[in-house]
Amino acid sequence: MVNKDQLRAVGERCSDFSLDESLYRTPTMSINDAGVKSCEICRHWDVFNQKCKIDVFDDVLSSLDQS
Ligand code: SF4
Repeated sequence: MVNKDQLRAVGERCSDFSLDESLYRTPTMSINDAGVKSCEICRHWDVFNQKCKIDVFDDVLSSLDQS
C-alpha cells in the first residue's frame, strides 16, 4: 500500500507528472499540499485503484530508493 509521502516523493520526481486540475482540490488534499506535486493530482493517477495508469510509479519509486 502506498502512502502519501511516497505519492509526493514520486510526483516530485516523475517526468510524466501532469497536473489534473479537477483532482487538485479533492478532500484528501490539505491546504498544506498547495503547490506540491503528487501522484494524487496527476492525470495518470487511478484514484479508485490507487495506482499509476501508465505504470511508471514503481520505476520512479525504486529510483528514489537508490538515491
Ligand atoms: S501518477 Fe504516474 S505519471 Fe503521475 S506522477 Fe505518479 S507515477 Fe508519475
